Amino acid sequence: MAYCNQSRKGLYEDAITFFCIADFFNGLLEGLDVTEHLSLYVHLPFCEHRCTFCGCHVVATRRHDLAAEYLDYLEKEIDLICQHMPERSSVTQIHLGVKRSSSLMGFGISSIGEVGGAYVQNAKKLSTYYSMLDSGRLPVERGYQLSADDRVRRSVILSLMCNLYVDFAQIESEFGIRFGEYFSLELAELSDGPGSDNLVVIDEGDIAVTATGQLFLRNICMIFDRYLREKPPEKPMYSRTV
Ligand code: SF4
Repeated sequence: MAYCNQSRKGLYEDAITFFCIADFFNGLLEGLDVTEHLSLYVHLPFCEHRCTFCGCHVVATRRHDLAAEYLDYLEKEIDLICQHMPERSSVTQIHLGVKRSSSLMGFGISSIGEVGGAYVQNAKKLSTYYSMLDSGRLPVERGYQLSADDRVRRSVILSLMCNLYVDFAQIESEFGIRFGEYFSLELAELSDGPGSDNLVVIDEGDIAVTATGQLFLRNICMIFDRYLREKPPEKPMYSRTV
């Protein structure tokens, strides 16, 4: 599969490394386990004006007819996705909004979704999104299939981000690894850096983030990010993450 872009963002962020994917995405949809419940994210980008502090992907306009046209295209996208799915699955959650999301199946411009162990991102420009749908193609622009290592690391990072804690036994039983061996490099780095600054406490069976460590959570997570390890940022990121 040909890579079309190398993102410099890390695994803990929305997007990683993407490759070109129309057929790949069709395959993911066709291989979906229909017994699994789906969570959906629908990107609704229209606002009447752009707030100065907004960092979201929005289209600022007072023309409601443009938003109505977008809804028609969303319907087309949903129909197209349904045609590629083996059977209908149950949907348990629907998120509507303007913040590009991951971990859900995404609809609408620029949405990032997770389908069948891969991240996929839709076209970011309205014109591209519309023209792909007009020609009967799924409006997917980029995608990335997670490796086994990506999945382990994602689980560790999510646990740190969401629970401020990693239970080695839980990761070991989920992924069939020995945490201490698999992450020996990371544990040594964690112990020398954040551990010695009392930002994390590392015990035999777990890592816990301290109250002070919560201010540096992203720095702590970055230690488990293989992509950042292989290509460290050119400038120090310490202050930018606080
Ligand atoms: S998404 Fe929210 S913050 Fe951004 S422009 Fe629209 S209303 Fe403002």
